[in-house]
Amino acid sequence: MDIKNKKISIIGAVKSGIGAAKMIKNLGGIPFVSDSGSKEKLFDSIETLVSNQIEFEIGKHSERVFDCDFIVISPGVPSNSFIIQNAINKKIKIISEIELASYFCKGKIIAITGTNGKTTTTSLTGHILKTCGFNTYVAGNIGNAFSEIALDVKPDEIVVLEVSSFQLDFIESFKPYIAMILNITPDHLNRYDNKYKNYIDAKLRIYMNQSNDDYLIINKDSESLINSLGRSNVKKFYFSLHENQTNGAYLTGESINFILNSELQFSCSLTDIKLNGEHNYANSMAAIISAKILGGNNDKIKEALSSFAGVEHRMELVRELEGVKYINDSKATNIDSVWYALRSYEDPIFLILGGLDKGNDYNQIKDLVLEKVKKIYAIGASSEKIFNFFHGIVKVEIVKSLEDAVSEANREARQNEIVLLSPACASFDMFNSYEHRGKVFKEIVNNL
Ligand code: ADP
Repeated sequence: MDIKNKKISIIGAVKSGIGAAKMIKNLGGIPFVSDSGSKEKLFDSIETLVSNQIEFEIGKHSERVFDCDFIVISPGVPSNSFIIQNAINKKIKIISEIELASYFCKGKIIAITGTNGKTTTTSLTGHILKTCGFNTYVAGNIGNAFSEIALDVKPDEIVVLEVSSFQLDFIESFKPYIAMILNITPDHLNRYDNKYKNYIDAKLRIYMNQSNDDYLIINKDSESLINSLGRSNVKKFYFSLHENQTNGAYLTGESINFILNSELQFSCSLTDIKLNGEHNYANSMAAIISAKILGGNNDKIKEALSSFAGVEHRMELVRELEGVKYINDSKATNIDSVWYALRSYEDPIFLILGGLDKGNDYNQIKDLVLEKVKKIYAIGASSEKIFNFFHGIVKVEIVKSLEDAVSEANREARQNEIVLLSPACASFDMFNSYEHRGKVFKEIVNNL
C-alpha cells in the first residue's frame, strides 16, 4: 500500500496510536492523531508527537478527524464509541493498527489471541524462537506496538504478536503465517453488545485471511472455540490437556508430546517446564507447536522451556516468609484465570478477591474454593457481591484495602500455606491498572 501524501487520522494516542503515527510519517503520509483523554494522562505521548512533528488534538475528537483517506483505530477505543460510529456512518474506511503495520512487515507473523494467556504465550514463544536462533521480534499488546517495529523486520525474520479481539475487529487483509487461538471464555462483553457470539466471532477473524500455506493452532479443549470454527483451508494443529492428538500436542502423564502425521516429533517432561499450572502447559504446547512448524531444534526448545520464568503479575512468586508463599496474580481479571490459579496450587490458600467486577459468576470457582481456600478477603467495589456469594461456603471477610487484606492474611496464614492475590476483577476502582495493583501488592508483601 502506498500511503505517501495520504491523510490518515489516528484515534487514540497511546502506544499503538503513536507507533502508527510515526510509521505513517516515516512513509511520507500525513498523520493526524486525536484522543479525547486528558493532557495530564497523555503527557508522554504529547512529547513524542511534538518531537516527531505530528499534528494532534487532545481532550476531544473534532470534525477534522473525518478529513482523511482512512482512519487507524487503537485497540483501547471501543468500536461502539461515538467517534467510530460517526466514521462508519460517513463511510470512512477504518482499520486497526495491526492491519496497517502488516502492510509493511516483510517477515513472518505469528499472531496469538485468546481470552487468557496471550502475554504469557507471546513472550514464551518469543523466548523459544530466540533460543532456537531465529531473529525474532515480540510486539503487539506487549512491549512495542507492531507499527513501531514493522518497518525494521526483514523477510527471514519473525514477529510474534499479541493480538486482542479489539485489534481483530478492524482487520481486512491481516494474514499471519501462524495464528494461535488459546481459549475463549466470556470477557469484555461490554464491548460486544453483551453478546458472547460477537466476541467469539471477533477472535476467529485471526484466521479469516489465512490460506493453505498458513497454520492455525487451536485449543481442542475449548468447546466454544471448536464449535465455532468455520470451514477453512488453513493447516490446523490442535493442543489438548485431555486427549491424544494425531496432528498436534497433548499432555500424557507427566509429559508433553508433539505429533505430526502420527509421528512423534518432540517430547518433554513437565519437569522441563519452569512455568507452573495446567494452563501454562496448554500455553507451552501452543508455543512448542509454532516452534516445530518453523523447524526449531528440540534441545533448544527444551532449554527455552526450562529457563522461562513467566511474566510479572501472572502467578508471580513475590516472597516466601516464614514458610508462607505470597503470589501476585494481579493480571487475573476474570474468573477463568482465577480457576486456573487455584488449580495450580496444592497448599491451602488465603485468597484476595475483588475490584471492579465485569459480571463474574462465582459459581465457576465455588467447588475449587471449597476444596482449596481457607479464607477469602474481599476488597473493592465488588466486595459485597463476593461476601454475599461466599458467605456460608467458606470464611469470607470484607476488608477496606489491599494493605489490610495482606496484613490479615499474614496474621492468619501458617507454614506451607499460600497468600494469593488473584482478584477476578479489573483494578480501576482502587488502582490505575492491574500492574499498579500488582506493584502495590508486592510492596506491601516486601515490607512485611
Ligand atoms: P492475557 O494477555 O491474555 O491477559 P496473560 O498471560 O497476561 O494473558 O495471563 C492473564 C491471567 O490469566 C493470569 O492470571 C494468568 O495466570 C492466567 N492465564 C494464563 N494463561 C492462561 C490460560 N491458558 N487459561 C486461563 N488462564 C490463563
